[in-house]
Amino acid sequence: MSALGALAAALGVALATLPSSAASLPREVTVAGLRGETRIALRRDGSGSPVVPASPLVAALDGMIRVEAGWAEVTIARQPFRFLIGAPLYQFSNQLLPLASTASMSSDTLYLPYQFVAEIVPYYLADRYRWDARRARLEELRGRTTTLAGRAPADVSRLPNGLRPGHLVTVDPGHGGIDPGNPGTYFPRGVREKDVTLQVGLLLRDELKRRGIGVRMTRTTDTLIALGDRGGYCTAECDLFVSLHVNSVARRRGYTDVRGFETFFLAEAKTEDAARVAKMENDAVRFETGEDPAAVVGGLDFILKDLQLNEHLRESARLAELVERQMETVHTGESRGVKQAGFMVLTTARRPAILVEMGYSTNPLDGRFLTTRSSQRALASSIADAVVVYLIEYERKTGTAVDSGGGQ
Ligand SMILES: [Zn+2]
Repeated sequence: MSALGALAAALGVALATLPSSAASLPREVTVAGLRGETRIALRRDGSGSPVVPASPLVAALDGMIRVEAGWAEVTIARQPFRFLIGAPLYQFSNQLLPLASTASMSSDTLYLPYQFVAEIVPYYLADRYRWDARRARLEELRGRTTTLAGRAPADVSRLPNGLRPGHLVTVDPGHGGIDPGNPGTYFPRGVREKDVTLQVGLLLRDELKRRGIGVRMTRTTDTLIALGDRGGYCTAECDLFVSLHVNSVARRRGYTDVRGFETFFLAEAKTEDAARVAKMENDAVRFETGEDPAAVVGGLDFILKDLQLNEHLRESARLAELVERQMETVHTGESRGVKQAGFMVLTTARRPAILVEMGYSTNPLDGRFLTTRSSQRALASSIADAVVVYLIEYERKTGTAVDSGGGQ
């Protein structure tokens, strides 16, 4: 057995055989998008398997390709499909799945198995594309709805993790640019809160994408985004807003002992400590306008009413609870629980929104945990898992996930 065969067997993956005989294969495929048609000639790879050049295919599907470290990531309709180059395997929504043949590179051109256009895209993106086998034609469907509320029918397929495709989450790495956040007492020299929030934010983006969830970042570099603008990244088609931060406490007796993680959702601060954290995070406003943050938070009353708050707050609270529960499985510190506070960054989001304080930079153990790559990855993965659980629950509750036939 080849190394790949052994890998596939170990993973419990069956290597599929070619679905159709060579004789029945078309010479070309047609991609019929809403803006026109593209014809792409099929080729054969070294082993005689039919392949499609990825560039024209992905362009016709309005997608993106990224090749990196032996993997090719093809993103279509915000869903990333990752191909291990040279292996009959691909990864989608955090699962490794078999391919009829392999993705390959030939003089800088990426080729994908014909199966991708004929089976995989129309299967996973069934609400968007239909495969007409007789005409070897992939058709983009009109009138696709994108909002959660408008998403419907039972014929829409699900991702392997049970989610519907098409979710979008805004990830907000706190601070940035001239606003360093807290100084990071127990972080390595020169590392501040803004660096850690960005590192974990980028990892969270990757983890969400791997689970088939689209991601919008408020920032991907060391720049300052105004607090009041951050929530605006989570627009109508966005399901959730997740802001990442690192906590700290002021110098006083025993202050380095305080550690752990807590997740906030928007509300008037219920405790003195929550008010303190909110004030600290809202202080970033002074980097932008010189405005008094207290005046900004004063507008909270109005916003809370404006939000039709109950539904929103209940959803945000549930997400916060799931995030705390998942983080508990990976964090070396303890869960400090779900809290409410008047974070300005949350007031501008018109969707369920949370703010995660991932630990204390003023505690040596949290400081190390938050700046170690492997634990950052575990943290990001746990938050992504919580988001998936939340979205599945939400789909069930709102009936956007339809079980045709059998029970749950
Ligand atoms: Zn912060």
